[in-house]
Amino acid sequence: MKEISGQTNVLSMRFGSGSTKGIGKEIGKFVIVTMEIPWNLTKTVIGGTPEQVLFVDSVDQVFLDQKLLCLPECDTIVGIGGGLAVDAAKYFCWKRNLRLVTIPTVLSVNAFVTPATGIRINHEVKYIGVTSPNPLIIDYDILRTAPRGLNIAGIGDLLSIHTASFDWEYAESKGKSEYAFSDLAIKEAKSILIDICSMASEIRDVTNEGLLAIVEGYMKLNAICIPLDHFRVEEGSEHFLFYELEERLKRSFIHGHIIGLGIYLMSRLQDNQVENITEILNKTKLDYHPRDMGIERQDLVRSLKNLKSFVQNKPQLWFTIIDGSEISDEWIDYVLADLRF
Ligand SMILES: [Zn+2]
Repeated sequence: MKEISGQTNVLSMRFGSGSTKGIGKEIGKFVIVTMEIPWNLTKTVIGGTPEQVLFVDSVDQVFLDQKLLCLPECDTIVGIGGGLAVDAAKYFCWKRNLRLVTIPTVLSVNAFVTPATGIRINHEVKYIGVTSPNPLIIDYDILRTAPRGLNIAGIGDLLSIHTASFDWEYAESKGKSEYAFSDLAIKEAKSILIDICSMASEIRDVTNEGLLAIVEGYMKLNAICIPLDHFRVEEGSEHFLFYELEERLKRSFIHGHIIGLGIYLMSRLQDNQVENITEILNKTKLDYHPRDMGIERQDLVRSLKNLKSFVQNKPQLWFTIIDGSEISDEWIDYVLADLRF
């Protein structure tokens, strides 16, 4: 791969089929933080003998702090799995100032490259700490054991550049941007989007190139967003619809799928190259239809009707197209017409 310049938050990396092999022999004393299925995929290839294999099923801070007390002395924490195992590993690394190795077994969330750790404090998600993987291991064969739809879900937080960057430009045009506006950040983010769109078939087929494109997209996004200290080029109205749905329905979603639905709907509210982005959503076979996620029509209608007052009651949410629009019953009928329930 080509070198990505800037603050990617990845200190070193190994990419390729079989790249997990033997890492355990190179990182001193180590502890594995994982779950059962990812550990079964990697335990025979990793090499070396871990001081402990710690299974986690929660990122609740009380649970993690209990585990931290029993953590043996070691040099390195190896996080193997999806977002939860990797976030737990990052938390231990940060607390103990240890080396971090991340081996994602699915690309559905980008926890394996982001600096902060998402943990739950009193049932609320909070992002704390700073860690960087050394190395990040992207083993295509291991990633392909995950359900295809979950790896494809990894593009949700990259395609969201389409609606989020529009929102930031829109806020700037109304004099409402919360941050110093950066044309360069928008331009660089859009080039990530163009790269991802050009790889749509590879991503749909979960090829090595497709998986690599997703990981590179995340790293480039870090290089834009970490210096700015915010993710406004990637987080906007499409995420805010998801927050409303999550709060209303009190359930979780596969992040990339619900963000895909947000992109579909908010690009229409923005009147923002609707056909192009819908074609990409379809071409990658991202599961963005409400039926894929078990969302009832009436629930989505309620969320859309409530969306403007929802964002206006949350001052921490940035100014977006939602603030500048009236969402009418007729518009809702119109935009839901082609979605599958
Ligand atoms: Zn997101």
